[in-house]
Amino acid sequence: MRTDYHTHTPLCGHAVGAPRDYILAAQKAELEEIGFSDHNPMPTQFDDWRMAPDDLPHYVEMIEQARLEFPHYPIRLGLECDFIPGYEEHVRNLAAAADWDYLIGAVHYVTPDWDIDNPKHLKRWTEQPVEEVWTAYFNAYTKMVESCLFDFLAHPDLVKKFGYRPEGDLSRFYHEMLDATAEAGITLEVSTAGLRKEVREIYPSRDFLVAAHARHIPIVINSDAHSPKEVAYEFDLAYTLAREVGYTEVMRFEKRKAFPVEIV
Ligand code: ZN
Ligand code: FE
Ligand code: FE
Ligand code: ZN
Repeated sequence: MRTDYHTHTPLCGHAVGAPRDYILAAQKAELEEIGFSDHNPMPTQFDDWRMAPDDLPHYVEMIEQARLEFPHYPIRLGLECDFIPGYEEHVRNLAAAADWDYLIGAVHYVTPDWDIDNPKHLKRWTEQPVEEVWTAYFNAYTKMVESCLFDFLAHPDLVKKFGYRPEGDLSRFYHEMLDATAEAGITLEVSTAGLRKEVREIYPSRDFLVAAHARHIPIVINSDAHSPKEVAYEFDLAYTLAREVGYTEVMRFEKRKAFPVEIV
């Protein structure tokens, strides 16, 4: 069974296509479920790539509308939430604001003013040691895991997006984060979005996924589609990688519970 739980809507300002177009694309790709997970609102408009503070009801309504239009196709309601220290209460409020199937945790910010995946800040990569950015990223990621606020964890090594990578074995950056994930029993996302970015690689890397599998960390495979044509993007590659690493199951999500299903 295949699903795609990480997809966006135009509400975040940088995705295109109505939910119905994503749903049609999912059906065409023979996925058994689709889920939406647009970028969460913050209490104040924080940046230019998320829904506005008042847009949450509109978002939920849009997905409910899609469910009415496709009554026989499972459409999951999710949200991609930024983990930013100090906003835990805000995330708890969001969690109570709708009948979510899952909340995705994501680290985009390594400092309050640097969302590391934003091409706007590309120059900053050359202004400080890459090691430091990687350390800050995975420290934040570990804190996100330990918060236990989320059902699965987005694009685990997003920090590699633009191809800035420290030398040598990178497990020194993520082994603690993986230990925390195993201990918390949280699912890790395998995302094909990285294949569309400068790094041209799935998030996470093969070594990273091997280390996750060794710790029995469950996975979910997603595209992070920002347009209907990206739904199920290069899923064959991701499923092949998961299988090669030793995975036989992926997780499906409903009402904030995870259920293992066999990989196909
Ligand atoms: Zn986005
Ligand atoms: Fe993200
Ligand atoms: Fe996303
Ligand atoms: Zn994302």
